[in-house]
Parts: sequence; C-alpha cells; structure tokens
Amino acid sequence: MNGTDRSRGFFKDVKRLIIKVGTAVVTRADGRLALGRLGALCEQIKDLNSLGYEVIVVTSGAVGLGRQRLKYRRLVNSSFADLQKPQVDFDGKACAAVGQNNLMALYDTLFSQLDVTSAQLLVTDSDFRDEGFRKQLDETVKSLLALRVIPIFNENDAVSTRRAPYEDSSGIFWDNDSLAALLALELKADLLVLLSDVEGLYSGPPSDPQSKLIHTYIKEIHQSEITFGDKSRVGRGGMTAKVKAAVNAAYAGIPVVITSGYAPENIMKVLQGERVWHSLSSRCAFVGLC
Ligand code: GLU
Repeated sequence: MNGTDRSRGFFKDVKRLIIKVGTAVVTRADGRLALGRLGALCEQIKDLNSLGYEVIVVTSGAVGLGRQRLKYRRLVNSSFADLQKPQVDFDGKACAAVGQNNLMALYDTLFSQLDVTSAQLLVTDSDFRDEGFRKQLDETVKSLLALRVIPIFNENDAVSTRRAPYEDSSGIFWDNDSLAALLALELKADLLVLLSDVEGLYSGPPSDPQSKLIHTYIKEIHQSEITFGDKSRVGRGGMTAKVKAAVNAAYAGIPVVITSGYAPENIMKVLQGERVWHSLSSRCAFVGLC
C-alpha cells in the first residue's frame, strides 16, 4: 500500500521530533564512516528545520569511530613483527573520547555546508537523577531550538561510570535507544524516530525470509510473537533495545517510528503520513515504514 493513509493522524501535530541514529547507520560494515548516509540524513534534517520542525538528534558512533581511528594509527605505526603479536583491544572510554570529537567534527562540517548550526550535548545516566540538571537541560534545549540550532546528544561514555558490556538495564537509560526515549519524555517531543539498519520491526530475524514487517506494534499482541535476532553488529542496542525503548515512550503517549536509516527521505515520508496501516492509539507502540 502506497500513498497517504489518513488513519495515521499523529503526524499532523508533530512539531518537535527526536531522531536517534545508531552506530550501524553512522558506520559502514568495515567500521569506517558512512559518509553518504550521514550526508543524506543531514540534508533531511536541514529540510525539516527549514519547514519549522524542531529536530533533536541522538547519535551513536563515537566508540566505533574512535576504535577505528586508534586501530588505524596502530596499524600505520606497527612493524610487520608487531602485527604478528596478539592485538589488545582499546579501552572503550578512550575510544569514546577520541570518536566523539571525530563524530561531531563530521556533523558540524556537513551541517555547516547546509547552513545549519548544530550543538553537542553529552549526558550521563546519573545526571538525570538531579532535578536541577533536568530543568537546565530543558531550558538549554529550548533556547537552542528557538535559535533553530540542532541539539545533538550522545551519552558521555568517556566519563560515564558504567562499563561495557552494558548489560545492566536498570539505570535511567542504558543505551542510546533508551536515552532517546527518555529525552522524548523529558523534552516533550511529539514523535520519536529510531533509525535502524533494517526497515522496521520484523516478526523474526530480518534475514529470515519468513519474517514479516510489523507495521503497528501492540505489546499485548506482538510481545510473544516476535523472535529477536542478534543484537546490533556494532552499537549497544539492537531491535530488542529499540522495542523496549519504543514501548516506554509509546506508553507515555509519544508515537514512535522505527524505520531504516539507509533510505533517504524516510523521516519526511513519516511526517507526510505515508505508508500507514494502522492508526496509533495509546495502546500502540510504533509503526514500521517500508
Ligand atoms: N554512545 C555510544 C557511542 O557513541 C553508543 C551507545 C549505543 O549503541 O546505544 O558509540
């Protein structure tokens, strides 16, 4: 089914939206930057910004990019004999600090080519326990949006006291999907878009031809039907994390869309109400788009 479906009424009232970009969208399979994909995303955000939408980005990719950069430096500085020895992995915190710089330099370069201004906001789980922090965050984001600046969030992994492998999901947030859902609530967003490396939520692993795209997820119906595949090849989350984050936001009344970060124009299509199978009710968590 193509075209606009009037039953997807939520898109008409969207003013403020949060777009979460995962590591699998920011980087290619070889770990290097997915420049074309990121460029296309920045162009979409520019268009949304020009149309008056308030766009907030949550981006992953710092750890992956930092690791890639440190690996490359080690490679060019190693002798053949050095390379025969087992290579120790780099500290994830150091990778985050190196990569965050890299990531933001890239967003800044791409956005400035499009005459868009962006700003970096790094947060940790423990920050959100402080009422004063939450209030300040809200005010800062409001003033950035009033200036038509795009706030770009990431977890401040370099100094966060949580350590890999981050299996603990008892915090206020525990990966960038749950951070994006938390920010959607804190900053009163009208829509949360989780960009993925697949088209949306499938009933089974996307590589399995039997798996079907679920267009509107209703926890009570679908929870027991879905078999999740592996977690993300690179990021902390994966579809299980996305569903959990999406359900939390949707239950608090914020529509959530999981869609492919590989297809240009998807976010705009969502906002134009394209490809709708089901209207969103308070029981519905999110829709996929293909
Ligand atoms: N904050 C991490 C990064 O920038 C990613 C966390 C996640 O994958 O959810 O690499």
